Amino acid sequence: MFSFDVAKKYSRIYFIDVILPIPIAKTFTYSVTKEEADFLQIGMRVAVSFGKSKMYSALVFTIHQNPPELYEPKEIHQILDETPIVHSKQLKHWEWIANYYMCAIGEVYRAAVPSAFLLESETIIHKNTSFTNVEILNDEEFLLYEALQRQSQLTLHEVTAILDKKKVFPVINQLIDKSVLYIKEEIYETYKPKLVKYVRLHENYRQEAGLQSLLTELSRAKKQRDAVLTFFQLKTEKKPIKAKTLQEKAKVSSQILKSLVDKNIFEFYQIQTDRVEYKGEENPLKNLNEHQVKALSELKKEFETKDITLLHGVTSSGKTEVYTKLIKEVLATGKQVLFLLPEIALTTQIITRLQNYFGNQISVFHSKYSVNERVEVWNNVLESKSKAQIILGARSAVFLPFSNLGLIVVDEEHEVSYKQFEPSPRYNARDAAVVLGKIHNAKILLGSATPSLESKFNADQQKYGLVNLTRRHGNVQMPKIELIDIKEKRKKREMTGHFSNRLIKLIDEALEEKEQVILFQNRRGFSPIVECSTCGHSPQCPNCDVSLTYHKYRNELKCHYCNYQRAMPNSCGACGSTSLDTKGFGTEQIELELKELFPNHTIGRMDSDTTRGKYGYQKIIEAFESQEIDVLVGTQMLSKGLDFENVSLVGILSADTMLNFPDFRAHERAFQLMVQVSGRAGRSKKQGMVAIQTYNPYHQILQQVSTNNYGEMYKEQLQDRWQYFYPPYYRVIKITLKHKDYVKVDEGINWLVKALQNVFRENVLGPTAPAVSRIRNQYIKNLMIKIPPKQSLVKTKEQIQRIKTSFEAVKEFRPIRFILDIDAY
Ligand code: ADP
Ligand code: ZN
Ligand code: ZN
Repeated sequence: MFSFDVAKKYSRIYFIDVILPIPIAKTFTYSVTKEEADFLQIGMRVAVSFGKSKMYSALVFTIHQNPPELYEPKEIHQILDETPIVHSKQLKHWEWIANYYMCAIGEVYRAAVPSAFLLESETIIHKNTSFTNVEILNDEEFLLYEALQRQSQLTLHEVTAILDKKKVFPVINQLIDKSVLYIKEEIYETYKPKLVKYVRLHENYRQEAGLQSLLTELSRAKKQRDAVLTFFQLKTEKKPIKAKTLQEKAKVSSQILKSLVDKNIFEFYQIQTDRVEYKGEENPLKNLNEHQVKALSELKKEFETKDITLLHGVTSSGKTEVYTKLIKEVLATGKQVLFLLPEIALTTQIITRLQNYFGNQISVFHSKYSVNERVEVWNNVLESKSKAQIILGARSAVFLPFSNLGLIVVDEEHEVSYKQFEPSPRYNARDAAVVLGKIHNAKILLGSATPSLESKFNADQQKYGLVNLTRRHGNVQMPKIELIDIKEKRKKREMTGHFSNRLIKLIDEALEEKEQVILFQNRRGFSPIVECSTCGHSPQCPNCDVSLTYHKYRNELKCHYCNYQRAMPNSCGACGSTSLDTKGFGTEQIELELKELFPNHTIGRMDSDTTRGKYGYQKIIEAFESQEIDVLVGTQMLSKGLDFENVSLVGILSADTMLNFPDFRAHERAFQLMVQVSGRAGRSKKQGMVAIQTYNPYHQILQQVSTNNYGEMYKEQLQDRWQYFYPPYYRVIKITLKHKDYVKVDEGINWLVKALQNVFRENVLGPTAPAVSRIRNQYIKNLMIKIPPKQSLVKTKEQIQRIKTSFEAVKEFRPIRFILDIDAY
């Protein structure tokens, strides 16, 4: 007995500290045998039990020989990987995120890896109905496959019972690899990518000099001749030529093209705009124009002395073309490139554009991709495969297992959507990218037409390099911006619904010229408020403190915070009167008004109601691109880096709500949004036109937008920030408490404010209730801590952590959700 114990102890003097994918601040120690210790490497996963009977996929963080003092370590269940799935550089980055954003490294682990890597006892597995290749399964795998034919999903407990063994993670992992099953995830809409018809020369003509003999041959068919001539003109651009484009440019019918195909002069082919494989050729990069050449050489110069450079280039100045040159050079040195974009800007437009140059060296990482697709990208990056040399991704791509990054591009660096608000880690991907770049010794390029105040400020302080690009490509002028005073227009009765006669005229003119129009309204639905004109009551959401929004199309009232919906009532819920009025307006109402104003044109709408599903957004963009839609109405989704050739007019229906938003960044944001939306106008040939309707044409921000005066906006806003102690001078940390009991939240926040004031004095602001102070039946209170420039950030966070710990020690406060948000903007 005794000797057995000694022997056991002796073989178990090895330990590993692991990260569990749960919100607990520290790592946990488990014991391993010498053989296991020899085999294990940092970054491999092991299955461990934790708590009463839960099983998790934990990540090895350290391997050592120091037994923990406070508890007897458990043994691990088994090793899940043959080689690490996470690099040490990544772990370093995750540690920074956990420290900086004050969260558990386990939360970073959970956010970072595809959920297929996180098998745990709670996981539910589903069968993949398209799998048929049973010959590749071994006996155990086949057992599970069979079970899944009888019931379409299994819990891990059931799997354990079926296989009659405890260690089931490896079998499941193999089955995921073989695509037999997948673990629970959202089911995405299946999508048939649109096939676009293109024209090329029939192979008989591809070799010879062609043109002359062809023209002679066609000397008596004028239309066909025109088509061929135009084809050769278009061909100089070295892009695939769409059948539709050729028809338009040559002014011929589809019949004419068809007859040329019948004569074996042309042939049709199709390209599927698909993410996974790029079948086209790699084309040479465009030649930069003189301004871009200068910008590129300035960038390189800045990079000689600085790791981070801001490229401030007006909309349509060709920032993307400049990025590509830099990317090409970095790839040539054998290093990887990360190209970050805001989620919504990650469309086939930009993907195809880069694929044109870099072909299959690009992988795309997108939260809307399925788990299997994400695992594939992860593994390709991990192994630094040739198809993962450039990663194009939204914010979570900063977590991928890069081994030698040379360059990170953060496009549209000012975008709010780089900030994750929920769940933790509440990181800003731009800032996390800067740190990631430093870990890899990579260069970081931030690009924007409207840089965030903090990045521009960093450039002014010489922390970042700065390069300006002030000309649009092709010397197309910046759009002309006109402010329309709708107070005036109302007085003169020159409004039809929400359209001034001036805006209507401009739309008319654009449509007349066969150009397209974008209209921006920063609110979806039909109208935000339904109000009883007898007693003033307006229907509220039962779960949130907010009025319901009227959606006319479905005749419903909806809550935009919790998705509650109900039918539109016929009478007032308070007084019974039937005189219900709608106030304010959203995209849906604008769409309807447009349909009445322009019955002969196609109107499209792009907002989160019309873009559900994996490809919803894509479909609308494609339809607008191929000019099936004449006027597109949308929310801020429209502002994100889209490039449409034929848009000559952009209208902003109401600038005022943006300006009156209660947030210290409202003015900066309003400026960025309006300039970005305006930037969609007149991108290719002639000068575009922008019309902004407002009650406040003399508002300084609108003046700055209309003169495209970023510099003045920057100076003025910076003064305000200085005067009122906001970023970039002060840092802000926001604390939010949430609970279903109002009194509890109230007591909690008051306790917290006092405790924090003892330390931080007047730099504690609040408590405040947010504009919507109850969401999904949870009451919400906020407070803000401002950190002066000279105060240590590290110390401040330690003090906050200490106060948080005492808060959580109070029994009544324990059930309250405590949310910390660093740089909460
Ligand atoms: P930005 O990202 O600055 O808004 P883009 O890179 O999208 O600008 O460029 C705007 C348009 O001009 C695109 O259609 C792009 O293809 C074109 N363009 C930019 N630079 C060049 C160039 N040097 N040669 C040819 N076309 C260019
Ligand atoms: Zn009423
Ligand atoms: Zn609600």
